[in-house]
Formats: sequence, structure tokens, C-alpha cells
Amino acid sequence: MRLIETRGNDGKKPKEVDFSYAILNPMASFGGLYAPKELPNFGIDFLQKHLNSTYKELAKDVLNSFEIDIEKDLIDQALQRYDQFDDANNPVPVVEVEENLFISELFHGPTRAFKDMALQPFGVILSELAKKRGEKYLILAATSGDTGPATLETFKNKENIKVCCLYPDGGTSDVQRLQMVTEDAPNLEVLGIKGNFDDAQNALKELLASSEFKKILEEKNLKLSAANSVNFGRIIFQTIYHIHSYLELIRRKKINLGDKIYLSVPSGNFGNALGAYYVKKAGLPIEKIIIASNSNNILTEFINTGKYDLRNKKLIHTISPAMDILKSSNIERVLFDKFGAKRTKELMESLNNNLYYELTKEELDEIQSDFMATFTTDDEVMNVIREYLISKNYLMDPHTATNIKAFKEKNEKMLPFVAYSTAEWTKFSPTIAKTLGLNAKNDKEALEAISNKFFKEITPKIIKIFEKKVVNSKIIEKSDIITAVISFL
Ligand SMILES: *Cc1c(COP(=O)(O)O)cnc(C)c1O
Repeated sequence: MRLIETRGNDGKKPKEVDFSYAILNPMASFGGLYAPKELPNFGIDFLQKHLNSTYKELAKDVLNSFEIDIEKDLIDQALQRYDQFDDANNPVPVVEVEENLFISELFHGPTRAFKDMALQPFGVILSELAKKRGEKYLILAATSGDTGPATLETFKNKENIKVCCLYPDGGTSDVQRLQMVTEDAPNLEVLGIKGNFDDAQNALKELLASSEFKKILEEKNLKLSAANSVNFGRIIFQTIYHIHSYLELIRRKKINLGDKIYLSVPSGNFGNALGAYYVKKAGLPIEKIIIASNSNNILTEFINTGKYDLRNKKLIHTISPAMDILKSSNIERVLFDKFGAKRTKELMESLNNNLYYELTKEELDEIQSDFMATFTTDDEVMNVIREYLISKNYLMDPHTATNIKAFKEKNEKMLPFVAYSTAEWTKFSPTIAKTLGLNAKNDKEALEAISNKFFKEITPKIIKIFEKKVVNSKIIEKSDIITAVISFL
């Protein structure tokens, strides 16, 4: 596979790169991203071949079809990470919750959120590439709660990789915080910031622009890379489970090969939905991809009107924090795929300079041929959680709950509807306890109250986290971030 740049080439960077180059150096010319030049075919023949495949067999053939420049042994080693999921044979169970509604659970990995689906194998590939090339990398991550734990978990004790993770102190759940501060390995640093997620992210941007910081990286022979979904190395692993979900519906005799289905994706940075877009284009029979949002409904507005408008928009803190976002990075790759580099550069520059862009009518039609969108408020999310627990005995987290309005409003053709569950309820237990009218002072009490009243098992890994020793308890002022990161290096 060759990758090209979403905003065109600046004459300094290579015009086309291999997969390994793109994952080690994720930023392309003019601040753009790398995107595949061509896609494989995941149509009927491919699906037919995998009717009886395990997840890993399917994954291997998906990666093989992309023709990535990674040795077979290393791919095998990366995919072995799915063996640590709850069921190694089926890391992504698909649960039938009511007629036509299938919840595809992406949270059965070590940190109980969908980030593990990609970060687990991605971490193996990135660190092995670095080792082979004799290069050392620093991964910086600002997290609102799920990317941090998954990044630390995948890179702990990896040679040639250092990770520094910034999180807003008080801005994550106890479970998310404990998942980070108890992670004990010499190549990891975790810093709590006195401030919110935006402060953590801004601090990170400031750090990246600082000349003092650049000098120190050079002295230490450290290169920078990124583990967020601007890195195509994550996106490729987020194509597999969409195909898997489709195959599962065939295996259960809910559809025949070739029938169309809907996919609904709780979205923030649009990495999950982008994976769905690529497989749809590659031939998977998908009627529409539905983008589910919370009250930060910029994606709903974009898909319904063609306007991406950040003017007068402020980030709202919701009970589905992993979807609290205004600038959704991976929309850029869809724009590029549909309208080319020249137009993408124009639109992204307009967003940077004017906080606004608008598609033409024809362009909007193109977007709407693949996507629909809807958003759900916190109150509606809480009602959904309560309703589905009580009437269907299915307990979902607040991110997953944003799918239900999509199911009720957008299933226009009454087709089988796959909704992605992106986190286990255990990561957001205080919100759920409150929703269910249970008293709890903290995550631990909330977990126990929910578990006792509704007979829901708490994942052993989550219980154990409360007993683990805290090894990273640094809480620092925003102004001390640069010094703290440098002293870690
Ligand atoms: C990251 C995340 C999302 C958003 O996924 P994107 O790929 O960024 O759109 C949704 N839900 C949860 C729980 C997440 O951790």
C-alpha cells in the first residue's frame, strides 16, 4: 500500500510513502495526514472466503489485502495481542439486544474501551519498527480518559519507546485515572495537570512548538510520533471489526451474503467511522454509516448541512467525554478521498483561518451518500441507559447509548442495525449509578451498588485496579509541564 497526503505535497516531504513510514512520521505536508492511495476489495468474494474465519484469520487477510510493508511474523505477533481479550476466539462479541439491533462490543480488551482494538496491535508494530531501525521514539498523549490507559498499556516496557501522558486532574473517572497512575514501567510518565482537557492538549501543543524541547529531543536522539488516530497505523486496525460484525450477522442467519446493513458509530475524532467508510468503499454492503454524537454536535451539523462551523461554539462537558470534541481530525481523510488534495487543503485552511467551511450542494450529496447523523443530549443518554437496563437487561455506557436514537430515528429501511459499544459500563459507573438513582460517593461504591442491584459482574481487572499501588502521583501546574517532561527524558 502506498499512502499520499491529504493537503498535497510541499516539495520537501516524499510524495508517496509506505505504511511503515506513515506510522513513524504521521504528519504530512502543510499539516495534512496520510491516506491510502488505493483500497483493497472487501466485497462478496472476500466475505465468502471468511464466513468461517476467526477474528485473527480475518485480520491477517485484511492487513494482507492492504499490502502493508510489515513482515508476516511481525503482523502475527501484533495480532496475538487479541489473545488477551476476554475470548481470544471472538474478541468482538456481537449481542442481539432487540429485533434488528445488534451491539458490537469493542471493549473486551485490557483497558475496557475501544481504543484497545487498534492500540494493542499498533503498539507492537511501532515499537518493533523502532527497534529494527535503531531509532528511539517519544509518544506524547493528552487524554480525556481512554487513549491514555490504552497507550500506556500497549507501550509499557517496550524498548526504544518512551510515553508521556498528560491528563486533567479531576477530569477523568477514578477508574480511568487509576488505570494510568498505577501503570508501573520505567519508560512511562504520567502527569496530572491542574486544569481541564483543553489545558492538557494546549500544553502539549506548546511543548511541540518549543525550541528548547526540540533541542533536547535532538540531544537525546529521540524522534516524536503520535498514537492518536491521525496515525494511519491505528485506522487500519479499525477496519477489521466492521467486516467481522457483518460476517457475524451472516453466521447467525440474520442476513444473507450481500444484504445491506446500517452501522452506527459513537464518534469523536472520527477514527472509528473512518474505518467504516473505507470498508464501505471497498465493497462491504453497508446502507449508511450513522454518526452518533453528544451535545457537541458539530458532526451532526456538518453531515446534515455541509457546514463545519466552529464560530461561537464552545466545548460542552458531557457524560460521554471521549466524544467531547469540536475539531474532528479524521473528517479530513473523507474530504480528501472524495474531493482530492487541492479542495481539502482549501477547506482545512478555511477552518484554521475562519473557523468555518461549507461544502457545495454536490459535495454535500456525496457525503450524504455514505453518512447520516444524529446527536443525543445527556438527559436522553441517561433515559436510554435506564430503559435498556430495565426492559432488555442490557447495561451500556453513556457513549454506547448515543447509538439508540440513531437506531430509532435513522433505520429508515428497517434493516439490521449494528451499533458499536465503545466502552464497558465499568469505566463510567458514577454516571450510571446516578442515572439509576443509586447513592455512591466514588467509582468503587458505584460499581458495587450497580453490581449488587442489577446482578452485573464487575470485570476482575477493574476491581483489581483499586488495590494496585499508585506509582505516578505527580500533579503539576500547567506552567511546569515543559520542565516535568524534560526531566522525565
Ligand atoms: C475514543 C472514543 C470514542 C470516539 O472514537 P473516535 O474514533 O475518536 O470517533 C467513542 N467512545 C469512546 C468510549 C472512546 O474511547
